[in-house]
Amino acid sequence: MQAIQCKNHPDVQAMDRCTGCAETFCANCLVNIGGQKYCGSCKVLAVSGRPIVEQATIPSAMASDALKYALIGIICFPIILQPMAIYKAVQAKKEIAADPQLTGEGKANAALVIGIVTLSLWLLAIFARVANA
Ligand SMILES: [Zn+2]
Ligand SMILES: [Zn+2]
Repeated sequence: MQAIQCKNHPDVQAMDRCTGCAETFCANCLVNIGGQKYCGSCKVLAVSGRPIVEQATIPSAMASDALKYALIGIICFPIILQPMAIYKAVQAKKEIAADPQLTGEGKANAALVIGIVTLSLWLLAIFARVANA
């Protein structure tokens, strides 16, 4: 069985293929970027293309959680879930402000509004009940 040679070094056995151009290269020629192997020339493309692809595509898990708690909290245990939703929404807004790649400010704002409104209505209902008793 014939050994596959590195495209750059004909006397060196190739270790793997480049993800970009599918040519074979030795360990010295390949670089690992995000778990993928690239040769010298494809590496430049992979590195320069990567940040654009990843930008603004990471939804904030904190914002999603905040909205989830706020929505469930309209029906179930608002006294527990709404403060959690408000807390998580505030944290999410901080997280999003600090990291431009994170998205979900709309969710965080929605969770904040739902949290404050639901909690206010719920507290009003309790006060009304206490006042009437
Ligand atoms: Zn390549
Ligand atoms: Zn090589």
